[in-house]
Amino acid sequence: MTSLEKSAHHKGHKGLWVSVAIALAATALPHAQTTAPSKTRAHVTALASEKLEGRLVGSNGEKLASDYLVSQLRRIGAKPLPGATDFLLPFEFTAGTRDGGSTATITDTRSNGNRAFSARTDVQALSFSDNGDATGSVVFAGYGIVVPEAQNFGYDSYATLDVKDKIVLVLRYFPEDADIKTKGILARYADLRYKAMAARLRGARGLLVVAGPHSPNAGETIPMTSDTALSGSGIVAASISGAVADAMFATLGDPGKTLTAAQKALDDANPHVAGFALPNVSVNIHTNVVREKRTGHNVVGYLPATIPATGVEKPWVALGAHYDHLGHGENGNSLADKADTGRIHYGADDNASGSAAVLAVGEALSSRPRHRNVELAFWSGEELGLIGSTAYVNDPTIPLDQLAAYLNFDMVGRMQDNKLTVQATGTSPTWARLLEQANIAAGFDLLIQADPYQPTDVEKFNGAGVPSLNFFTGTHTDYHRPSDTADKIDYEDLDRVVDFAAAIVGRIGDAAQAPQFTKVEQTSESGGGRAGVRLFTGTIPDYSTEVKGLLLSGVIGGGPAEQAGLQKGDIIVEIASQTIANIYDYTYALEVLKIGEPAKVVYLRNGERRETMLTPAARK
Ligand SMILES: [Zn+2]
Repeated sequence: MTSLEKSAHHKGHKGLWVSVAIALAATALPHAQTTAPSKTRAHVTALASEKLEGRLVGSNGEKLASDYLVSQLRRIGAKPLPGATDFLLPFEFTAGTRDGGSTATITDTRSNGNRAFSARTDVQALSFSDNGDATGSVVFAGYGIVVPEAQNFGYDSYATLDVKDKIVLVLRYFPEDADIKTKGILARYADLRYKAMAARLRGARGLLVVAGPHSPNAGETIPMTSDTALSGSGIVAASISGAVADAMFATLGDPGKTLTAAQKALDDANPHVAGFALPNVSVNIHTNVVREKRTGHNVVGYLPATIPATGVEKPWVALGAHYDHLGHGENGNSLADKADTGRIHYGADDNASGSAAVLAVGEALSSRPRHRNVELAFWSGEELGLIGSTAYVNDPTIPLDQLAAYLNFDMVGRMQDNKLTVQATGTSPTWARLLEQANIAAGFDLLIQADPYQPTDVEKFNGAGVPSLNFFTGTHTDYHRPSDTADKIDYEDLDRVVDFAAAIVGRIGDAAQAPQFTKVEQTSESGGGRAGVRLFTGTIPDYSTEVKGLLLSGVIGGGPAEQAGLQKGDIIVEIASQTIANIYDYTYALEVLKIGEPAKVVYLRNGERRETMLTPAARK
């Protein structure tokens, strides 16, 4: 087929060419492709249906989707993995947080008079708070913002304050009347997690946050976010109402010293306006954050090899796609317009299309002779941060060094202009030639990207040293919106992706030798990085395992972390004298590092405390 024919063929189902194609089919070409039933339409339609409610990990929609996938795996003759009794591989995750009964008790130290607050409108733990009690005298620390020295900006709410063993009271947000540029800088350090870390690093026992009378949501406690962090941030932290803050300020016995007056003095961001102690009041904060654990399910089966695997290196090849999506968009990763908020996010392209592709490739391979076992995997929890594939890679049913290759499909149903993007090709020298050969029949305009550090499950297999590919037909305006529906999928081209992938798996499956793995050096930090951080450390954090510190799921080849001797499994607990309790601390710690300037890193390896020097590089 020439490229001209291909392009006419491609446009065929989109309009003008339809009538021509049908006319030809009716007369000269009775076996034209347009009459063949789609390999993928039924799968996408089922997975992206109303009934499955957007397939949120841990929801009933996820359960119904997994039921469908299991039934389809059975239909094509797949079996549960050796050693597994079931196609379902469960994993646990934090689905959200709620307040289970936090309190604040204020004591006037002159009279010993108490006032206890327990209503959620008066006191509510911050979602990342440690659970426990903190008691101490109170220091009002303004907005509680510390701009790192490296920024040469000179704003430190703690500059003149001693908060060791105290309870710190701070205002929410940032100075309200500052100029736009100043606000822009301060806003970057006004995140509640950052304020909590600043207080903790200065020895505070607890943090209270109040939305000042001059701020949005004035006087209101802060709703719990759907924070999926597995553990607390190392400090007891709660938000309080304006009434509770007023009660504390009242102990000053000075009608001029109110929360309103204190905020007013701070609101033009004059760095010389300092906070002050509230000497006549002591506070007890009790926090109770309930982190709701839920169970998600990966669905994995395999087609056993049909030809005895003698002389075959690495007897497995795997195909995978995430089948979960955003549900009704309740986890904050929806891009829905206001009018569509809370509607079902059907996720037809993201990623019913990829799941359908894996099923269809599996079905095509099920009737062919196979030298290698073909693993068919459907991951859940991808949308909350690759949770399902991370759980699998950390505890694989089939040892990962037995995998000759892993092929991932994420959003492959909206092809434009015959363009198919294939990512992670840098993971093996085999890919370039193999793709070129397979594309002779397929005729795509291939966009080849070597980088395996993609925001999808392929990253986990690359991290585990498996030669990998990711197929992707590009993003579109329905991405992460309720409008990503099954009727918009281009089934004819999706089926072509299936044929292409089946040909690739066939070639890998038939070769006695497995593709060689190549470690790709990362040129820009993927994920986690805050806007404006131009710094590259080469760490790959593990977001899904509960530890105190920053657990590394790997390091980037040739990057600063690897050069510093860090490796997978290390837990970073301190960087440049800042303790690291979690990923957020780490992100903020990056702010104080300088490109090219070595920083001391303290880490745990097999429980043993070690030190190294890491020299951050510039992001490219
Ligand atoms: Zn997505």
